[in-house]
Amino acid sequence: MSTNPEARAWVHVRADALLRNYRRIVEAVGPETGVLPMVKADAYGLGMEDVVARLEPEDPWGFGVAAVAEGVRLRTAGVTRRVVVCSPVPPGEVEAALEADLQLSISSLRTLQRVEEAARRTDRTAEVHLDVDTGMGRSGFDWRSVDAWLPAFEAASERVRWVGSYTHLHSADEDQTSVARQWDRFSGVLSRMDVSTRSTLVHVLNSAGVFRMPSLAKAVVRPGIFLYGGAVGDDQPAPDPVVSVHARVVHTRDAPAGTTLGYGTTYASAGDERWATLSIGYGDGLPRSLGNRGHALLGGVRAPIIGRISMDVTVVDISDVPEVAEGDVATLIGSQGQSVISLDEVAGLAETISYEILTGLTPRLPRVWSDGSRSAKSKSRNTSS
Ligand SMILES: *Cc1c(COP(=O)(O)O)cnc(C)c1O
Repeated sequence: MSTNPEARAWVHVRADALLRNYRRIVEAVGPETGVLPMVKADAYGLGMEDVVARLEPEDPWGFGVAAVAEGVRLRTAGVTRRVVVCSPVPPGEVEAALEADLQLSISSLRTLQRVEEAARRTDRTAEVHLDVDTGMGRSGFDWRSVDAWLPAFEAASERVRWVGSYTHLHSADEDQTSVARQWDRFSGVLSRMDVSTRSTLVHVLNSAGVFRMPSLAKAVVRPGIFLYGGAVGDDQPAPDPVVSVHARVVHTRDAPAGTTLGYGTTYASAGDERWATLSIGYGDGLPRSLGNRGHALLGGVRAPIIGRISMDVTVVDISDVPEVAEGDVATLIGSQGQSVISLDEVAGLAETISYEILTGLTPRLPRVWSDGSRSAKSKSRNTSS
C-alpha cells in the first residue's frame, strides 16, 4: 500500500498488476492475436492516459473507447496506434471522429451512409468495423437478417475501408453455452461474406470470453475489466488486484450506549463503543448502500461501517482496534496484512458489478500510481490535490 500524505482519500493503482493482467490475456490467446484494451470511461476510472502510458510498451493492436471524445483525448495524449470507437457513433460526431482518425463501429446502413458522406465531405477514408448483433441487442446488424443488409454493406464505396467484423458477448462471465451460441450466429454471418473482396479482422472476446473460450480469440480480443482487476466469473482465473481505495481517519470518539449516528440515525451504539470517522463518502464514489453493511480495514482488522454513509465521511466501529488514531489510513477496497476486502466483494455487497464501482470513483479521489515495489506518484493530472 502506498500512501499519499496530502490526501484525505485516494485511489491507489498498481501498474505492475495492470501489466501482469495484460500479459495473462496475451498468454491466454497466444501471440498471433492482437489485443485491443478497452480504455473507455477513463479506463474504467483508473485514468485513461495513465493506463495507456503503461500499456503502450506492450504494443497492443490498438485501444478501444466508447465515445468519440475519448478517442480524441487519446490523440491529444499522443497515441498514434489504432483507436476503435466500439459503440454506435452519434450522427453529429462522425466528422470529428474521422478528423481524429478513429475507427468507427457500424450498426446500421443509415450510419454507414452517414460515415461514407462524411468521409467524402472531408476527403478522408473512413475505417470501420461491422458490428453484428448476436443476442446483446443494444447495437449491431441483426444476425438473422444478414441477407437484408450484408450486400449493401459490402457495396460501400471506397471511401469506407472495412477493417474488422465483431460481435459482443452478453454472458461469458456466466456460461460457455451462450458464448458458443453467439459464436454460431456470428460465424453464420461471416460465412456469407464475400471473401474474395473482403478480408476483415474478426473480434469477439471480452475479458470473460478470453478465459471462457480462448479458441475464439481470432484476430483481436477486447479485454477490459480483467486488466483492471475485476473478476470474470466464479469459476475463472482471478486477476491481480489493481485498485485499492484508502481514506484517512479524521476523527475518533468514544460512543457510550445509545449514541446515535448519521442521517436518519439508523445506528446507535449498543454498549460502550469506539468509532472512527473516515474522510470518504458517497461523493467519492463509495456506494451509499454499504452503510450498515460494508467494512473498512484498520490496523489489519475489519471494522464494520455503521450508520448511513454521508457525502464526505463514513463512520466505522473500531471497538476491536481502539488504538486507531486520527491520521491513520483505512482501506475500503484492498488489503492490510492478511485482511482483504476485494473489489468484487464490495460490488456484491452494493448489489452491483466491479465495473460500476470502478467507474463510480469520482475525480475527487486522486489516482496514485505505484510502479512495482517503488512507490511513486504519477505525473498524472489526477494526482495533485
Ligand atoms: C466494454 C466492452 C468490452 C470489454 O468488456 P470487459 O467485460 O470489460 O472485458 C469489449 N467489447 C465491447 C464492445 C465493449 O463495449
